[in-house]
Amino acid sequence: MTTYSCHVDVAVALPLDQTYTYGVPESLASSVMPGKRVLVPMGRRRVTGYVLGETDCRGAYAVKRILDVLDPVPLFPPGMIPFFKWVSEYYMHPLGEVIQSALPGGLNVVDLVTVAATPEGLAAADVEFTHLSPLAREVMTRLRSGPIRLRDLAGRADRRVPAALIQDLEDRGWLCRERRLQGGATRLRMERFAAMGDQPAPPSLSRARREILSMIEARREMPVGELAGLVPTAPRLIRAMADQGLVRVYEKRMYRDPFGEPIPPDEPRVLNSEQAAVAAEVGAAIGKGFCPYLLAGVTGSGKTEVYLHLARKVIETGLSVLVLVPEIALISQMERRFRARFGDAVAVLHSGLSSGERYDQWLRILNREAAVVIGARSAVFAPLDNAGLIIVDEEHDTSYKQGADLLYNARDIAVVRAKLSAAVVVLGSATPSVHSCYNARIGKLKELRIRKRVESRPLAEITVVDLKKVQDARGARRYITPVLHDAMKAALGKNEQVLLFLNRRGFASFPVCSSCGNAIRCAHCDITLTYHRLAGVYRCHYCGYTRPVPSDCPACGPSHIKLLGLGTEKVEAAVTALFPGARVARMDRDTTTRKGSVVRILKSLRKGAVDVLVGTQMVAKGHDFPNITLVGVICADLSLSFPDFRAGERTFQLLAQVAGRAGRGDAPGRVILQTYTPDHFSIVAAAMQDYEAFYKVEIGFRRALAYPPVSRIIQFKISSVEQAAAREVAESLGGVCREIRGGEETYEKWVEILGPVEASIQRIAGRHRWQMLIKGRRVAPLRRFVRAVSAAAPALFRHSKVRVVIDVDPFFMS
Ligand code: ADP
Ligand code: ZN
Repeated sequence: MTTYSCHVDVAVALPLDQTYTYGVPESLASSVMPGKRVLVPMGRRRVTGYVLGETDCRGAYAVKRILDVLDPVPLFPPGMIPFFKWVSEYYMHPLGEVIQSALPGGLNVVDLVTVAATPEGLAAADVEFTHLSPLAREVMTRLRSGPIRLRDLAGRADRRVPAALIQDLEDRGWLCRERRLQGGATRLRMERFAAMGDQPAPPSLSRARREILSMIEARREMPVGELAGLVPTAPRLIRAMADQGLVRVYEKRMYRDPFGEPIPPDEPRVLNSEQAAVAAEVGAAIGKGFCPYLLAGVTGSGKTEVYLHLARKVIETGLSVLVLVPEIALISQMERRFRARFGDAVAVLHSGLSSGERYDQWLRILNREAAVVIGARSAVFAPLDNAGLIIVDEEHDTSYKQGADLLYNARDIAVVRAKLSAAVVVLGSATPSVHSCYNARIGKLKELRIRKRVESRPLAEITVVDLKKVQDARGARRYITPVLHDAMKAALGKNEQVLLFLNRRGFASFPVCSSCGNAIRCAHCDITLTYHRLAGVYRCHYCGYTRPVPSDCPACGPSHIKLLGLGTEKVEAAVTALFPGARVARMDRDTTTRKGSVVRILKSLRKGAVDVLVGTQMVAKGHDFPNITLVGVICADLSLSFPDFRAGERTFQLLAQVAGRAGRGDAPGRVILQTYTPDHFSIVAAAMQDYEAFYKVEIGFRRALAYPPVSRIIQFKISSVEQAAAREVAESLGGVCREIRGGEETYEKWVEILGPVEASIQRIAGRHRWQMLIKGRRVAPLRRFVRAVSAAAPALFRHSKVRVVIDVDPFFMS
């Protein structure tokens, strides 16, 4: 048996539930470190793993060895390992995959097989060409031009060369396989710089050379590229001057700058008494261990200014700050304000960066070059090792929970991270989630409040318009009611800006055939298509399926399609029709697919180049535009019909947030809230901007039905392209769950099983969907139960045709 200098625990980035022990050979002993990636054998493959730490050699079986160490320095501070482990445990997700999704993309080395033809093979193939199978001919022909990755050998992504054929050709000695490591795509960007050399300039120097020298001298160092822009011959001259020792040329590591334009620095504002009280209380806790706060401050109350003051204090203590913001558009705003205060000390992390940029930011944080990190949900994994303060802004926002594979809630794990780092955490919102508010009331969070807007600006005045009363109105008048129309006229007349909010994009969400009355539906989902006028298509908002326009009615052939239902495009058209002179812009997912488009729209709004902005919930969130004095909510009810127990909460938050966009400058704001259900408590509470009233009713419902935050839920999401298979697995899983529950008293007492039932949208993207909820007041037995279920029926979780996903604390249960 091989002897190793030590053994380490490694998590591989594969869906495996355990970590593995590997031996460290003498030659690698000094370079293996927690937080580094290593190459390890796993079956017949070589895979990337993450070193977690040293471990005892378990058992007497032959331990395999680490093949290579892939990183010169650890990619995350070892202090984060307990956090990764916590996330992996809580969300029941393999540790290696947790770490992989935490790291910026482009870092994973892929083990790729390359195939090359031997000279004998090429010669033999020529001779026997006519006897070869068509595929063998093709393979040998393609290999003529050099080695090819096995993956690319078939020439088309949807085709594979059978392993048997490769084996056969290899056995004949015609080709050989080679395992070659392909590095990640990300590379450091280096730039050449010139600085003064050690030789004095001779008096005979040419003018161009003299000019270059004086520029370098003035700036101490200059990028050669920049010099070339000023003096076209500079690269050549500099090379010559370097030989003479007049200048020194060297390469420097450049951080790709994610920031668009220069930001003028600003000075801290003097906090008002409410802000100061909050800053004093939180400030006093910094550096003294874990302390969680909920900061509930009305819209425009100056929460961000408080964050800035706290950040200064943290930085002065020598610690760093992590700020989470729910989406990219808001990051740019937060980033501006932090950059204005802290300049280069700010790093940002979000999906809008290229992988190279993200990698650079990652390294800056890791190297402690950034004292402030601002980012979207995944930045909760930023590689800080000395966080003193974690801020989760707009903590109620549901995008903290969205995600593809690892379904974590960034807000929740931010609190955990703070706890594990002995840091202070502040969850801030004007409309706190019911979850956080409940936690504050039961003492898990300390509640702080800012009740007044900055400079005692009044909250906007809200007028509720009952849409049932304007039902006979036609065309645009039906959703831009006279009250809203008049208010728009008044605002635009004073050169003020108007925001119109509708939580649905497209032109018409309910296209129906005028002869048979059938709606135009998606071919792959149980949902109607939305008509998009600009794109000229009917589109599915769940899977992206489109039908061209014009389309026949699927039931009765050529027919007139009536465009019922409303979307932002229709509102935009209505505004243009009613106010021909107004400059109208629209912000929703359709207008913001291109990188930077959100920022562009927001910039033109800031500059005053837009009079009316129409948008979806993208415009409802935290933006600060002082010249918006009127907000029109076109139809407040859309989010209420969502089949989710949080529908009322989401509606309240959206309405209160969008109302908060009005009147943030010197002119007072006004909100016109149009609704079919003016008596719904979420809408009444939003109209009164009365969070307490809303919370009281809502928590009553949650208690009565034992829904979160009073209880916890773990959801099984079951889906398959085959209807019968989905049902079968769902029902078997239900059977297993009930059996296990029946077998233990604790489960009978603490675990409730709801379902399985078909999901409310029964099919999305061709997959038939079922779900089952496991609910209980205590999380520990719940999680133990789910583990018991997955251990008892592993086959159901690894079914070839059915996907079963475990979602802990699910959102969007549709
Ligand atoms: P919030 O984050 O609560 O929505 P902001 O921090 O964006 O509020 O503050 C709203 C506006 O008031 C901003 O333009 C901000 O610069 C300004 N502001 C904040 N605090 C003060 C203060 N103490 N004095 C003057 N202006 C302030
Ligand atoms: Zn679809």
